[in-house]
Amino acid sequence: MTEYEAVIGLEIHIQLNTESKIFCSCKADSWGDPPNTNICPVCTGQPGVLPVPNLAVIEKGALLAAAMQSEVRPESYFDRKNYFYPDLPKGYQITQYDLAIGQGGYLDLPLPGGGTRRIGIEKMHIEEDAGKTIHKPGRRLLDFNRCGVPLVEMVTGPDLRSADEAAAFIRYLRKLVRWIGVSDADMEKGKMRFDANVSIREKGAQTLNPKTEIKNMNSIEHGREAMRAEIERQIKEVEAGGVIESWTLDWDEETKTLSKMRSKETEADYRYFKEPDLLAVKLEEERIEEILASLPELPRQREERFTAEYNLSPKEAATLTSERDLSDYYEDLIQGYGGSPKIAANWVINDLLGLINELGLSLNELYLTPERLAKIIKLVDSGQINTSTGKELVHKVEAGKQEPTAIVEDEGLAQLTDTSAIEAICREVVETNPDQTGQYRSGKKGVIGWFIGQVMAQSGGKADPQAVRETLIKLLDG
Ligand SMILES: [Zn+2]
Repeated sequence: MTEYEAVIGLEIHIQLNTESKIFCSCKADSWGDPPNTNICPVCTGQPGVLPVPNLAVIEKGALLAAAMQSEVRPESYFDRKNYFYPDLPKGYQITQYDLAIGQGGYLDLPLPGGGTRRIGIEKMHIEEDAGKTIHKPGRRLLDFNRCGVPLVEMVTGPDLRSADEAAAFIRYLRKLVRWIGVSDADMEKGKMRFDANVSIREKGAQTLNPKTEIKNMNSIEHGREAMRAEIERQIKEVEAGGVIESWTLDWDEETKTLSKMRSKETEADYRYFKEPDLLAVKLEEERIEEILASLPELPRQREERFTAEYNLSPKEAATLTSERDLSDYYEDLIQGYGGSPKIAANWVINDLLGLINELGLSLNELYLTPERLAKIIKLVDSGQINTSTGKELVHKVEAGKQEPTAIVEDEGLAQLTDTSAIEAICREVVETNPDQTGQYRSGKKGVIGWFIGQVMAQSGGKADPQAVRETLIKLLDG
């Protein structure tokens, strides 16, 4: 039987998180605002107005280009892409065609089975978004709030080999744009959406077969399902002796089916020409250098550094670099704590992440700063409190908005290390429970766990568990 592989290229639209739109001062983020409230003569294409480029858009676009190993062009141009659609009041979209802000580039995508695959970037440009058409029975409503919202469009090479790889690429890109602070990439709010060009071929072949395009996916999971379904459909079609036609497809999330949209426009249909209302976008050499210098350490680099420098497992490093804020928190914690980075990692992964999930907070909303968590770990390390008290303290500090040491003092949480006090409790528990004592002495050593539990409970959880275990064994064996 023939084995097939998928050939997938993605076109991704990323909404830049600037305050204002790309060519006017209207508010860019209209999420939750009533329709047509963030619009002006410029973004609705009234006659006699001129666009003014938003420098923040150019700079964020350049930063993203740099993060994708793309060369930032010192001089790029805006072009007009002409087409008619009701939600495009100007009758054209201002975009970049041949001389865009970024040239080339790639992303080394980590593969689930280890290793990476280099995904080439064929195009990366800045453009304005169009409005939104809302279909109601018998009516078509238009919301121009999105007109002029700044986007980066990124087109990858046909380098992805499965729906899973394509989904992994989108997930990594979403992390990257958040990491460098150019977009919220909130897919539910349409701030990141993608189309996929899908074809199949015999595994290992180099040919590119006719492809179909799945449009407007705004969820990684649904996108993955759609690509999988389309790959399966194409394989069936080819196996049955059919041919693949270049359709544009729409994925229905409800019914999980693909339907044919329109036949695809070719670039010639758009009659691109240089935007006459705008000058070339010039970025001085120095400005480009500044932008490149402001590029933070990228997620993959940081992940690799974490495994090497802090001796973390790949899984731990991946978790701690899942978001930039989290990895910054972790490094601040190491700094404040001064102990083993491995121990610090355990506290972040097991306790801090648990706390955040439970409370639904983001890291910067926490009262439990890295400094305060460092204090808790130090209290545990020095034996002033035991580990389980430390874990509870994580929650108590956050809930009570109080310093760890103050809570330990107020609530008398300090670990009971006084051996005579521990021995007194142990002795009492052993003497008042002859059944369990008998069990232990007749060889059921596992019952020791029950004894430890009793003593810990009687000490209000404050006894040093190691000392309790040792004392109990001494009493029971003696
Ligand atoms: Zn406007």
